[in-house]
Amino acid sequence: MNKREFLKSSALLGAGLAAGFTQINRGVTTSGFKYVDTTLNQAGEYVLPALPYAYNALEPYIDEATMKLHHDIHHAGYVKGLNNATKKVGEAMDSGDFSLIKHWERELAFHGAGHFLHSLFWKNMGPSAGKRSQNLEQYLSKSFGSFDRFVALFKQATTAVEGSGWGILAYQHEADRLVVLQAEKHQNLTQWITIPVLVCDVWEHAYYLKYQNKRADYVTAFMQVVNWDAVSENLDQAIK
Ligand code: MN
Repeated sequence: MNKREFLKSSALLGAGLAAGFTQINRGVTTSGFKYVDTTLNQAGEYVLPALPYAYNALEPYIDEATMKLHHDIHHAGYVKGLNNATKKVGEAMDSGDFSLIKHWERELAFHGAGHFLHSLFWKNMGPSAGKRSQNLEQYLSKSFGSFDRFVALFKQATTAVEGSGWGILAYQHEADRLVVLQAEKHQNLTQWITIPVLVCDVWEHAYYLKYQNKRADYVTAFMQVVNWDAVSENLDQAIK
């Protein structure tokens, strides 16, 4: 997927309306780097990407039971919902009956954002911390002052998300800098033309079994399992 195609698909994160058309008409994705796995099967349906490591690979920071529940049940549910919404939007176009389009566009944005953000989430964690590239370091410094200042901001902003949602480090193309954002729920990502390069799931299902109400502890633990190879690669691709 090139940047323009990514920007189109990322419209799902915030503005579902045009995105439904894009999703239906994109067809089978091409090879090469992709921020998220948007692979379609023979039937043109989205598929749940396999977890790129074992369920217990992030222990003790994130427990095996949470990973199984999160990936196999919650993420799978988003994929199912995205396929259903895509089908329903298609049926509305075929029949000309758009009376429920608001509902299905919301479903498309909700499940599409869920599918894409979770796909990025699995990838931007890993059992190995990897290494921040020189480029990523420079962007973190120029955008936040230093890596430590970024970490402090990311932890505070992510922990402070009201209700369910995400903490997001994103590349702001027009300003050529990184920015930390909060997304309340995931269909309400406000700066959706930015390109996420690191995301942290703070829906309760991501941490409740192990951390209960202690979200800050979970976010701190999350920082221990970030795969900086993947984050660096995301940035390299985003700025191309
Ligand atoms: Mn989740």
